Amino acid sequence: MHHFQLINKELYAEECKVQDLAEEFGTPLYIYSAATLKRHYQAFDSAFHGLSHLTCFSVKCNANLSVLRLLKEQGAGADIVSGGELYRALRAGMDPRKIVFSGVGKQRQEIREALEAGILMFNVESLPELHLLQTTAREMNCTAPMSLRINPDVDPRTHPYISTGLKKNKFGISMDLALELFIQARDLPNVEPVGIDCHIGSQLTEIEPFLEALDRLKTLYSRLRDAGISVQYLDLGGGLGITYAEEEPPHPSEFGRALTQALQGLELTLILEPGRVIAGNAGILVTRTLFAKEAELKRFLVVDAAMNDLIRPALYKAHHRMSEVAPQGRPESVVDVVGPICETGDFLARDRALPEMQAGELLAVFSAGAYGFAMASQYNSRCRAAEVLVDGDRPRLIRKRETYQDLVALEDIEN
Ligand SMILES: *Cc1c(COP(=O)(O)O)cnc(C)c1O
Repeated sequence: MHHFQLINKELYAEECKVQDLAEEFGTPLYIYSAATLKRHYQAFDSAFHGLSHLTCFSVKCNANLSVLRLLKEQGAGADIVSGGELYRALRAGMDPRKIVFSGVGKQRQEIREALEAGILMFNVESLPELHLLQTTAREMNCTAPMSLRINPDVDPRTHPYISTGLKKNKFGISMDLALELFIQARDLPNVEPVGIDCHIGSQLTEIEPFLEALDRLKTLYSRLRDAGISVQYLDLGGGLGITYAEEEPPHPSEFGRALTQALQGLELTLILEPGRVIAGNAGILVTRTLFAKEAELKRFLVVDAAMNDLIRPALYKAHHRMSEVAPQGRPESVVDVVGPICETGDFLARDRALPEMQAGELLAVFSAGAYGFAMASQYNSRCRAAEVLVDGDRPRLIRKRETYQDLVALEDIEN
């Protein structure tokens, strides 16, 4: 459920007319709904009410400070993958004790910053990383809480680019090596093993792969106990999918029930790292039609948003539902919705049936709240879009549209 609805043939974001927002803030424009973000966070978090747990929002999917602040107010922690995300999470006022640090390539400086902040744990992904964590913690004369990211070799049955828990993927440590690494970690003076972690992929539409992964983590958990290593946290990562088109992912409550049942009787705190399921359907991208172009073989709708604004269609062949912001009731035709960028891969949709639209009219691209703006670039020297957060009838600009000066600001150096 989200709060982007057509009322009397006009699209609203909560109580704000999308048309008005586009006039006021320009296009392309990202619009997020505060009520939707809250609702999704609460639906997810409350699904685990029967368990000791911590919900760490995956900052990489939508890193805007105002979005992070809103989620912090709801009680969220953060799952970060870089020093930059740590900086954002702290700037948003997140409690360091609710921050977990994931990623295969953590650097010494990033580890230092996270140790200084006093985060809850580092999700370690390799032996050399374990040693870097040890030496960095020793230099700082502290102990680094660590969890080991396991690669459970489970097929998440999702797009290959967002599958992360298969043996051939770069992430985590195999089950066979995990025990050995935990023993090494236990014997290092400046790290303390506190958890087991995994993240098998993104946009999963079934519960089964999560349960398979959990089963492997539980096996490892008992092996660790037998070896005298007791960990307190079990982190199952993120990955719960959303409806872009026809997908029917499990509701978070169903997900919560299944995990709660599977964890009965274990004295563990469960950590979850949801991203997309919180933010994905809490945001739209609004774009203005520039031209309706009739080519010999195809019709193109050329719009002012492009792959630099929303790369998911180009990168994953992702489907984003679209609709007119003010439906005119014209007949549908099949079009490619494309942006102004000089790449054939620059499309938002291909062979999409859409009502015929004219230059100047607005199109809404749904499910753009996660991995939308977060993956935006300035390719073709395009200024990145503005972001607006709507709360009831109140829109708030939460990121200004970039200017030409912004494009060159870091290059304006006296040589
Ligand atoms: C990307 C990522 C997530 C979030 O994934 P979603 O599919 O957006 O829920 C969580 N944890 C890790 C380690 C990730 O890399």
